[in-house]
Amino acid sequence: MIEVKVDFARCDANGTCAALMPDVFQIAANGLLEQLAETVPDDRDQDLDEVILCCPMGAISRA
Ligand code: SF4
Repeated sequence: MIEVKVDFARCDANGTCAALMPDVFQIAANGLLEQLAETVPDDRDQDLDEVILCCPMGAISRA
């Protein structure tokens, strides 16, 4: 498993990650990002790379 880290201090809740990996990230009813999973399986390595690259705030990383 790969550990997914979000720096919520950087996140501006634009929803890019939620669009790409909706089972891991979602924009909650209060408009803030909610992280639904702390880890992803190893076979989702490329999906996670894409999300990390696409986050405009550089708020997502892997442990
Ligand atoms: S893509 Fe980055 S800035 Fe946008 S909601 Fe996700 S973590 Fe926050």
